[in-house]
Amino acid sequence: MLHKLRSYGFNARIFEKAPHIGGTWYWNKYPGARCDTESLQYSYQFSEELQQEWEWSEKYATQPEILKYLKHVEKKFKLSESITLNRTITDIIYDGKAGLYKIRSNHSEEYYSKFCILASGCLSVPIKPNIMGVENFTGEIFQTSKWPDKNIDFNNKNVAIIGTGSSGVHVIPIIAEYCKKLFVLQRTPNYAVPAHNRKLSDEYVKKFKDNYKVNREKAKKLVSGFLTHYNSASALEVNDSELKREYDKRWEAGGLAFLAAFCDITYNKSANKTATDYIESKIKEIVEDQEIAKLLTPNSIVGCKRLVIDSNYYATYNRKNVALIDINQEPIKALTEKTLKLKNIELDIDTLILSTGFDAMTGAINNINIVGENSKTLKDKWSSGPSSYLGLMVNGFPNLFTITGPGSPSVLTNMIPTIEQHVDWIAECIRYMKKRSYYSIEANLEAERSWVKFNEDSARNTLRYECKSWYLGSNVKDKQRIFLPFVGGLPAYIKKCEEIVKNSYEGFRFSN
Ligand code: NAP
Repeated sequence: MLHKLRSYGFNARIFEKAPHIGGTWYWNKYPGARCDTESLQYSYQFSEELQQEWEWSEKYATQPEILKYLKHVEKKFKLSESITLNRTITDIIYDGKAGLYKIRSNHSEEYYSKFCILASGCLSVPIKPNIMGVENFTGEIFQTSKWPDKNIDFNNKNVAIIGTGSSGVHVIPIIAEYCKKLFVLQRTPNYAVPAHNRKLSDEYVKKFKDNYKVNREKAKKLVSGFLTHYNSASALEVNDSELKREYDKRWEAGGLAFLAAFCDITYNKSANKTATDYIESKIKEIVEDQEIAKLLTPNSIVGCKRLVIDSNYYATYNRKNVALIDINQEPIKALTEKTLKLKNIELDIDTLILSTGFDAMTGAINNINIVGENSKTLKDKWSSGPSSYLGLMVNGFPNLFTITGPGSPSVLTNMIPTIEQHVDWIAECIRYMKKRSYYSIEANLEAERSWVKFNEDSARNTLRYECKSWYLGSNVKDKQRIFLPFVGGLPAYIKKCEEIVKNSYEGFRFSN
């Protein structure tokens, strides 16, 4: 966004809470952290030179490699001079008369800006359980999403981990390898499909890079914004051997493309059951102790919660030093000086790891005191659930944009292309306003309401309402249950955004 605005001649500055750039790839540096979207696609496409010169080493890049890439981008485009690190923005207050936002930081600084763009992340506010007696614990507590900048020695340590979402599933097999004992405290099992990560061969990279432009264009035409083969066949129309052949192929290839094995997996319960039956048979096959296999089996809808991509997760439960504990049977009671007390068991532990998720999509925005027209706060406006037009702007908050805000495809798609689409849209909009000497832009209330309703109705037609998930805000106490990302897929979203622009920014109003 900074690079684009600068290239259009605007003056812009980034404020970043962390002491380092990288966002999610700075904070989540737990052992085993790597992206589960293929590296050649989980990367910027705004610069052909950049995408040709950068060399990804593996199918799924590790956190350090992605952070290195981001540092390279920062250096290449000389971004650091316009980035202020270690700044938490506390207030963003609209002054309608001046046509400016007053932006305050935790260092008591004040800045004024005509436009304000929130690029504060979809999964950037960690949540953690309140465990009684935490202050008595003499061991160490780490959170995967706030992992410290140091090597942690797990040798000879008894470790407990809470949370078995993507982050937990990634860290568990790694820590199991070198700790003395690992207790996995599971509340809800997830479906996991293998990553089959590998080094990228020179031939594969060359072929992909030679066709980068075409590949990127093709990817934009797919719901997930991710280039893969979407099978147009229904899981209910093929015979058992065809069904198995397709799932075997997807399992062997690895990754999120498992959900594209048949066209109706995410819409039709019977079709979904063919996929869950397949994964559940794999769990039984991999895990030696069938009682543990049963505990790891979700008996749910695959793709309702975010599908997890794993390396060696299920096989980790065959290790002698790993114990799986169902906290529905054995609820966590308290931490003592050296133990974690459950209902009937007391675990001697040196280290506790929390991998308990995020206040997704609205958490970071709501952490800022954002005041719009007529002194109304965004938090008040969103008290009965977030509303936004396209996940880009909110009525009552002129000139305030959100990158991948609630109502945008974001987390259901390949994040980088989806972010770049927002960046381009916002930059073009600001340029359009400058050319016409417009003073402000604001989303109309009607347009916003109909977008929210359209998304909610569309989400209810999928299987995503069949479970509790962070997509619905159900992992955060008292958070409104509303489907947060746009479910209609990237092509439909891009088409809508383009039509709106073509119709002179339909649903927005400008003032001069
Ligand atoms: P998550 O998917 O929300 O998982 C949190 C886990 O903690 C769940 O198992 C949850 O159980 C459990 N939990 C939460 N509060 C608890 C409590 N009080 N007591 C016991 N258990 C509790 O969070 P995440 O694993 O950090 O992943 C979030 C998202 O980040 C992913 O879905 C993915 O989109 C993204 N991510 C991506 C990557 C990648 O690309 N490689 C890696 C990590 C994360 P319940 O299910 O019962 O609530």
